[in-house]
Amino acid sequence: MTSRSVSILGVTGSVGQSTVQVIEELRGQGAEITVEAVTAGGNLAVLADTCRRLSPKFAVIADPARLSEAREALSGLEVEVGAGPTGLEEAGARPSDWVMSAIVGAAGLQPTMAAVRRGATVALANKECLVCAGPLFIEAAAKHGAQLLPVDSEHNAIFQVLTHPERVEKLTLTASGGPFRTSSLEVMAAATPDQACAHPRWRMGRKISVDSATLMNKGLELIEASYLFGFPSESIDVIVHPESVVHSFVHYVDGSVLAQLGTPDMRIPIGYALTWPDRAHISTERLDLGRLGALTFEAPDTVKFPALKLCRDALQRGAGATTALSAANEIAVEAFLAGRIRFLDICRIVEDSLTVLEGK
Ligand code: NDP
Repeated sequence: MTSRSVSILGVTGSVGQSTVQVIEELRGQGAEITVEAVTAGGNLAVLADTCRRLSPKFAVIADPARLSEAREALSGLEVEVGAGPTGLEEAGARPSDWVMSAIVGAAGLQPTMAAVRRGATVALANKECLVCAGPLFIEAAAKHGAQLLPVDSEHNAIFQVLTHPERVEKLTLTASGGPFRTSSLEVMAAATPDQACAHPRWRMGRKISVDSATLMNKGLELIEASYLFGFPSESIDVIVHPESVVHSFVHYVDGSVLAQLGTPDMRIPIGYALTWPDRAHISTERLDLGRLGALTFEAPDTVKFPALKLCRDALQRGAGATTALSAANEIAVEAFLAGRIRFLDICRIVEDSLTVLEGK
């Protein structure tokens, strides 16, 4: 890998910290990676630790009221400190070759757009950017010559095997099924935030963990795949695959089906995005097919998990509906995590919001 400068939006989160690990591993192999900017929501302890490890030029805390606290936490380090929406946007706009977009939710849109508008290579973990602003985002990337590299494991898998986009019959996204795959509706009705966040395969932030438990995450990914790869809803299937080893399939017109496999570890798609179009050694656990024995697949339960249909319907209605869906879901998940609503209310609230929108 040649030398490159990078910025990491959402460096204190799960994807952000996996990115830090990948950078450290590649630096250990001799890669010259400099860090231009990093951003945090509120976790100053992890931000300070990251700045010590990566020596970025610019570090941002999302809350403008905490600027002096951030300066204090980063004192002694040679780093410029910024805060608030302007700081976040500046982090995306500062000159770097590669930007990891890993802020959770719609808050990631503005800083990621700033990177897109200067034609950067953008590694896209944040799926809400595309769900909220898909057509605008794709148009801006094309206009400014920004290269989008999907980091969501399913989209990264498709990207890796999408050799002939014009010869594709359909895509199949795989879904782990989340923590309630085999639970009854009664159990789901009483689920606590901690139970909803106990994902069987992936260690992730709390918002995406709840989205995985409702299967909203897979619906958001369906929308993301449609905007990113340009396929309509009818050409994208979802299959539950509890082992989370096959990260998605591309079906071609000649009957061939290509897939990418790997252990469920985000350092694999992050490493791929950081070294693309090359590949580098990443020390993740290797896939042992003999030990796995079997890979299983099943159709999603659409009664227990109505989110998939909500997302499909929103995608068919267009960008206004997918934006409304994403916003309603983000607010409902926050309310669930704060203990203000129950687990099954999340999809009801999203459905009600879309019904209100339809009446307008
Ligand atoms: P986390 O919750 O672990 O991290 C979120 C990051 O965003 C943190 O750095 C957090 O800061 C920051 N943040 C939160 N709110 C704001 C805000 N209002 N303004 C600025 N920064 C903010 O999430 P994940 O890393 O799990 O996920 C990040 C994104 O990647 C999501 O969009 C998710 O859907 C996507 N993704 C994640 C995967 C995973 O395996 N985790 C897999 C595929 C996609 P702080 O912690 O300092 O408050």
